[in-house]
Amino acid sequence: MPELPEVETIARTLASEVESRLILDVEVLDESAIAPEPGSFRERVLGRRIARVDRRGKLLLLHLQAAGGKDGGEIAVHLRMTGRVLALPPGESPVRPRVVLTLSDRGCGAMLLVFSDVRRFGRMLAFAPGGGPDSIDHWPFYRDLGPEPLLITAEEFRQRLAPRGKKSKARIKALLLDQGVIAGIGNIYADEALLRAGIRPDAVAGAISARRQDKLFAAIQAVLTQAIAENGSSIRDYRDAHGDAGSFQNHFRAYGRAGQPCLTCGAALRSLRVAGRTSTFCQHCQTA
Ligand SMILES: [Zn+2]
Repeated sequence: MPELPEVETIARTLASEVESRLILDVEVLDESAIAPEPGSFRERVLGRRIARVDRRGKLLLLHLQAAGGKDGGEIAVHLRMTGRVLALPPGESPVRPRVVLTLSDRGCGAMLLVFSDVRRFGRMLAFAPGGGPDSIDHWPFYRDLGPEPLLITAEEFRQRLAPRGKKSKARIKALLLDQGVIAGIGNIYADEALLRAGIRPDAVAGAISARRQDKLFAAIQAVLTQAIAENGSSIRDYRDAHGDAGSFQNHFRAYGRAGQPCLTCGAALRSLRVAGRTSTFCQHCQTA
């Protein structure tokens, strides 16, 4: 599932292709892939200009502009398991297209923005502008997202792990995966950061010293920053907006390496279920 570095890479590769283009046509090939229903979806995006592409947590965001430069709302894409957003020349089609937006010529030919999704867990959502009930600010998932891990300080991170000053009894990995605590981290980068910080995934968050929480925060920032520089991790499905794979999977020390030797101490890595997810860790290098 694409996490922060993968969605950041998609946003960057998509931006250069689609920013400033108008949405001239909308083809919905799978009504369950969009919200709201096709009539309203079309009304919210047709004729709008894609002003800017960015990301919030694991959500890809296309900020739209209406006629006269007015706010035109947003398209949010939740990629989930196998969702892809691709910028393609007309005539090309990826596997399982769900939504196809035809974009205006920008002096370098027309362009298609295609949302494809083999397993159909992803969603493309159109929001109205203006802060009203149909705006993105009223979408509970978006409104409740925690802060961006690359934009906060170590002190803010410690506060997120101990809301209202209370020591959390939750497992540290469960908190890292909770998008309301901190946005954008999933199974891959949680395991990689915990191994680098020497903290077991099932450690009780409130029992981790401030010094080790700071070490974890530094590991999260380092892992995410390096993964962005490597254009994300391609294990199975993830590709950027040009269809290219990332390369951070070549730097994995934990994720998917259960049974293989720890790159620090040589012991076989173990796996464990935490927060319903398989977690890989080193029982020598990581402690509770
Ligand atoms: Zn080790």
